[in-house]
Amino acid sequence: MPLYEYRCGQCEKQFEANQSVHARVEDTECPFCRARQATRLMSSFSSNIIGDRKPGFTELKAKAMTEERMQRFAKLPPLNIRPNMSSPNVTSESEPMSIEGSTS
Ligand SMILES: [Zn+2]
Repeated sequence: MPLYEYRCGQCEKQFEANQSVHARVEDTECPFCRARQATRLMSSFSSNIIGDRKPGFTELKAKAMTEERMQRFAKLPPLNIRPNMSSPNVTSESEPMSIEGSTS
């Protein structure tokens, strides 16, 4: 159950109440003066929700992005490793030489 903050319109005191979402403000009784003139203060409650949601959302987005990157990287290595691992400089040097040797 969500925790609501109220301010009593009668004695102007603030109080918190654990209520169901369907609880009506008119039915909220002030614990200090028993008046039913409370107004709901959503400030701290809503700011908590926004604070919780924002990182969660970006985290999810970041996770999706890293997963997408991982999938791309998984395809890249065989293409990248081949020219580097098989023969980095020897082939590029020997190839033009062999061509030169064959032509001249
Ligand atoms: Zn009151």
